[in-house]
Order: sequence, then C-alpha cells, then structure tokens
Amino acid sequence: LVPYYYNTATGVLQWEKPAELLGGSAKATGNTGWLWVPDAEDGYVAARSLAGKNYQTMDGRSITYNTPRGVTLNPLNTASLSMLHDDLVLLEDLCEGMVLHNLKERYLKDQIYCGVGAILIAINPFKRLPLYTPDIIEKYNKRGNKVLPPHPFDIADKAYKTMLEVEKNQSILVSGESGAGKTETTKQCLMFLADVAGSKANIEQRVLSVNPILEAFGNAKTLRNDNSSRFGRFSEIILDNEKRIAGAQIQSYLLEKSRVGYQQQGERNYHIFYQLCRSDWAEHYQLGGPEYYGYLANSNSIDVKGMDDYREFQDVVQSMDSLGFTQDEKHSIFSILSGIIQLGNVTFSAANIRGADGSTIDDINAAYAVASQFGVDSNQLHEGLTHRTLEIIGQAPVKVPLRVEQAVENRDALAKYVYEKVFHWIVARVNKSLAPADNSGSFIGILDIFGFEIFEQNSFEQLCINYCNEKLQQLFNQDTFKSEQALYTSEGIQFPEIQFNDNQGILDLIEMRGGIFTLLDDTVKGPGKPEQKDQKFGTLLDSKFASNPCFIPSNKHRGINYNAFSVNHYAGSVVYNTDRFVEKNKDSLFADLYDMMAASSDVFIKQQFSAAQGGRVTLAGTFKKQLDSLMKDLRSTQSHYIRCIKANSRKKPRIFEGASCLEQLQCAGVFEAVTIRKSGFPFRYTFERFVERYKCVLATEQGWKPLQSRVPQDQCYEILSATGQPFSGMQWGNTMVLFRADEYRILELCRALS
Ligand code: ATP
Ligand code: MG
Repeated sequence: LVPYYYNTATGVLQWEKPAELLGGSAKATGNTGWLWVPDAEDGYVAARSLAGKNYQTMDGRSITYNTPRGVTLNPLNTASLSMLHDDLVLLEDLCEGMVLHNLKERYLKDQIYCGVGAILIAINPFKRLPLYTPDIIEKYNKRGNKVLPPHPFDIADKAYKTMLEVEKNQSILVSGESGAGKTETTKQCLMFLADVAGSKANIEQRVLSVNPILEAFGNAKTLRNDNSSRFGRFSEIILDNEKRIAGAQIQSYLLEKSRVGYQQQGERNYHIFYQLCRSDWAEHYQLGGPEYYGYLANSNSIDVKGMDDYREFQDVVQSMDSLGFTQDEKHSIFSILSGIIQLGNVTFSAANIRGADGSTIDDINAAYAVASQFGVDSNQLHEGLTHRTLEIIGQAPVKVPLRVEQAVENRDALAKYVYEKVFHWIVARVNKSLAPADNSGSFIGILDIFGFEIFEQNSFEQLCINYCNEKLQQLFNQDTFKSEQALYTSEGIQFPEIQFNDNQGILDLIEMRGGIFTLLDDTVKGPGKPEQKDQKFGTLLDSKFASNPCFIPSNKHRGINYNAFSVNHYAGSVVYNTDRFVEKNKDSLFADLYDMMAASSDVFIKQQFSAAQGGRVTLAGTFKKQLDSLMKDLRSTQSHYIRCIKANSRKKPRIFEGASCLEQLQCAGVFEAVTIRKSGFPFRYTFERFVERYKCVLATEQGWKPLQSRVPQDQCYEILSATGQPFSGMQWGNTMVLFRADEYRILELCRALS
C-alpha cells in the first residue's frame, strides 16, 4: 500500500501519519472508503458502502446497487476529485467514474474540450463560446513548443504540422451521435486549415463555400438536431508542394433518401426544399409556400427557430456561383427539385383497370406540373406511376396495374431516386470545380460521419452505420496500439504486453463472403415477395450463425414482437428488426419510371439516367465498396481522433446527463484507448517536463535545494532520490521517463507536500 494518508474530513492528503488518525477520522489511502457506484442517471456516483447493497452518496442520498458477480467497484480517492486535467490520462485513477467526473466538472466550467492521450473529447456546449476567434487560431498556429489546452485547432494544427514534418497524408476522424457537434467541429478544423495553410488564389474560400451547399441539400431538421447531416462525408483538403491549399475532394456516404418521401412528425425534409419555396425563384417554378406540399408539410414542421430559409437560399446560390455552377445547371437543379416537391402532391384513387384493382391519379394537373419540370411525357408519367411492366422470360411483357398504396410507394421511390441523383451530381460538380490543377499533392482528410446507433427499433440503415463504426473502431484500436508501440520503440523501452479487444469477428460476421451482407444480397436477387424474402433472410442468418459468438439468433429474443436478430457490437448488443431489410437493400426503380426519366427532354436529367440501370446493385454492396476504399485511404494516413459528446438531449447548455455521456464514451471506444494505454506505462514526461513539474520536491525549509546536474535526465534522478522513495518501476527512455499510477501517486504526493 502506498504510504500516505488521507483525511476524510478535510480531503487533505498527507505524507506523515496524521495525529487525528488515532481519533479515527482519517484512514490510510488506498482505501478511503469511497467507491464509484454505477448509477442509472449520472453514470457513476461517489458513494460509500453501508450494509449489503445499500450505499450513501457523497451528497447524502441513500441508494442501492446490486454488484454483479465478478465485478469490483473502483475505489475513489476523494482528493483527486478536485484535480481536473486537460488530459485524462493524467488522472491518477483512470476508471470510468473518474473520467466522467472530470468531463462533467470541466464542462460546467465551459471547458468543453479534454484530451485522452492523443484523442480529443469535445462536449457540445449548446451555446456560443468565444473559442474560435482569429487570435485563438493565431495562438495555436504560432505555439512553438508550448502545450496549449485541448481544442479542435490543436488537432488541426497537429495534422498540418505533422504533414509538414513527415510528408505523410493526415486524417481527422470526427465521430459522435446525432447532435453531438461533429459538423461544427469539422467546420472549425476546416476554418483553421483554410486560415493557416491559405492558398495562392483564394481557393480556400471556395473550399469553405462547399458547406452551405452540402448542408442545404444534405441536412435537415430532426428531433435530435435542427441541422442534422443526413449523409456521411469525407473531405480531403489537398495541398500543393508548398503545403498551401490547392483544392478539395469530397466523398459522400449513405444519404438518407427516405426522408424525401416521408419524415417523422416534427422533423423536416431537406433544407433546400423549404429554401427554394421561400426564395425569389419560387414563382419561376410555380411553387407556393412549403405549406402547400405534402412532402414538406405532412410532418408539421415548416419553419425552424433561428433558421432563415430565405437568406440561406441566397447563401446557397452565392456559393454555387463562386464554385462556377452555370445558370443552366442551377435551373436544372431547381426545376428538378420543384418537380419532386410537386410529385408529392400527386395522389391516387382506387380504380378498376381492365378488371383488376388499380389506381388513377386524382388531379391530372398535378401530374402535368411534374411532367413539365422533369421534361417527360405526362401520359407516360401517369402510366409509369400507376402501372409496372412485368417481364417474364419467353413471354411478351405485360402491364400490371398498381393498387393505390403501391402507386404511392412507387411515386415516393421516384422522388427519392431522383433526389439522390441530384445530390450525387452536386457532390460531383463541387469536386470538379475544386479539383486541383495537379493531382500529385498531399491531403488532410476530415471525416464527419454518423456515430454508432442503438435505437428502440434498428433496421438496415443502423446495420450499415454500425458496420461502418466497427470498421473505424478497428482502425482506432490498431492506431492507438501502433502509436503506443511506436513510442516504446523510439524510447528504446521494451514493449509491454498489451491486451485489447479485437472486433475482427464482428466485421467477419457482417462483411465476409457468406456473411450477413452477402446473404442479404443473395436474398434480394432470389425469388419471392418482399415479406417472404425478409423471412427467408432471417432464417438463413439463424441457420448459418447460430453458434457465432457475435450473433444472437431470432429464437433468443424474448418479448420482441417482430422478426429480429442481434449483433454483439463492440459498443453493445443491438437488436435489428428484419422487416423491410430486403426492400431497403434493393437500390432500384421500376424500369418504367427509369426509362421514362432517361428519355427526358432535360439534358441534365437525361444524363443522370443515361446508363442502364444496374439490376444487381444493392445498397449493402455499394456501401461496403465505398467503405473499403475509405479505409484504404485512411490507412495510408496518420489519423487524429475527435470524439464528440452530446451532454444532454434537450439541446440546452449547462446540463450534463452522465449516464448518456458514459454510453457515448463507450460507443466512441474511449475506454479501449484508455485500457491500451493503461496496460503499458500510462504516465510519461519528457525529462524537461518532469523536472519542471517535480523540482519543487527539492524545496527545504531553508529554501530551494539547487539541482546539481545540468543534464535533464540526471536532474530527474536527483529529484527522485530526494524523495527517499525507491521508485524501482520507472522506465527510462531516450527522451522521457515513463511510469505507472503507483509511482505517479507518490510523486504527486511529494509535490503536494512540498
Ligand atoms: P448530426 O449527426 O445530426 O449531423 P452533428 O454531430 O453534426 O449531428 P452538429 O450539427 O455539429 O451535430 O451540432 C448540433 C448543434 O449543436 C449545432 O447546430 C450547434 O447549435 C450546436 N453546437 C455544436 N458544437 C458547438 C460548439 N462548439 N459551439 C456551439 N454550439 C455548438
Ligand atoms: Mg452533422
């Protein structure tokens, strides 16, 4: 046990045995009696064990907690509660409770950033803080050797400076749940890079003008976030030989196209639709206010507080202009958007078509409007929306009438499909205008992508998103592990045995040949009605993976009234509902509508639909390919990580919901990084910094005892020997000294006492 003493009444740490010890008000540390007890609301509370499962918290509440078998609660040193750190790795006791406590106390003081080793944790303040001004950019840029407080600028600066030093591409990976602040953080990094790297011809301004466009077309108001990105985005900032900005390239992932046809109550469709309806251009496209259109008004949320759709539209057009969009291009885009808006107002009634249950369009004028915006024949549109052509091999094709609900689904499919085409075209157009003249440059990539999702109901979309997060988590673990290894090697210290959970098994389950994705793709291509296919898919999974430790089959789901399977993700087990999995994975339009669009008189639309529709394309397949390519890019870079945390779900400042933050930290893999670091020598100081921090132990009553040596490492020895403690566990590297929590505790105590 470490020989120091802690006064539980005053919270004071002491080296000498205190007199009161005899009176019983103080106890030797190592066990102060306080524990971190898991709590459903706060994540953890500091409490003391009474009897059995009863505990009393520090603020005097009585709580109960059933300690599961095999679990020991982490003891807590109350003196360290008041020691807040910029870098959580410097916590004496790096347990979940302590990490959470530190983040909370800092957050309440508006210190929203905190490091855990090389990772930056950013907690959304939900209020404007004066942290992003030009002079702060300047401070980070011109820091020299100074260690500055954690900040996205710190990460962006490290990425940029490392690139200058080692000529290796860099990436910044920003993750977190919806509303955690990924997009804001990404913009801060971009702003820093644009300012610091600059460019020869104001290219950085054009790079920044991509944001208003992509946010208008790819963001929407959701219940979680008024400006929620509904797509993932990797932005490569490309630098020339002088390391100034030469251009940018953007890759988008998994746009949520279902939103075009339907939104939950209280959510909105994509911002651009409302902006267009409110703009001066609306009249030109015969558009009224958004309240007239089902796609925009059905979810009963038209205006967003603090958002001016009229002004934002002007920003979008201005940004398009600065990126060189032509007048024709803009008109094509907006007329297609008008077509989509009006398509939502095409409604159907049941009708008897040649003796079969079919449907007809209620108001043919609505269809005319759409046909004219899309540049297609209105009869063909009518026909295409209410029928589908069935091709049976060896027979003449037959037109089958669609029932009302099928026609509605078909209509929405068209709207979604067309919107997605527009979105992809815009990304490609932006890339064309930001492509650097010479393609040999290096890049800093910033990834702003959906974090791990565990909802009440999880479907195909969540599986894709969580799969992506598994991939990123694996990279994260490997990076953390590798950078630890690199440090030990460069310091010439033997690499300690480091253990971490590898999630390869989960990745195999999902992406391997014969895994979940391929089984799903095979089912899509096979025969049968959609519902039958979902069933078949579920059965296939069960039979194939019943004994896979990462998989839980349907029959192990009690109390769930739908077809389900679970995956044991690194962030927790997630139950997926297989209903509509197959349909969602199928990424195609009935040929009738596809061919109609391909014959459009609008050159722009015609172009988008020119290639024959690939019948074998599935979402899972496409996404996997995209991710493989992203991972390849990321592996070629040195990565920096920012984990965004949403402190509360009310979008309000100063509220810290501990349990939810804890869950987010777990999903972000923060504790894996902590474990990796802890299993080595987590405390590390360069000799100089060590001397700086601990030379105070040389203080005597007569004043300072001067250091004898001028060599920093020898100065460290002097300091250690002055403490009179053995310190046998210190690891002496080439430039730094590394040690574990026990040594750290003693050192800190010596420091506190001097
Ligand atoms: P989604 O996954 O839904 O796109 P996100 O993680 O990108 O979410 P943001 O849109 O970046 O979240 O942030 C949500 C909101 O939180 C912002 O609109 C802003 O109001 C607020 N916010 C985030 N970060 C900050 C910050 N650093 N300072 C002030 N407000 C912030
Ligand atoms: Mg976002």
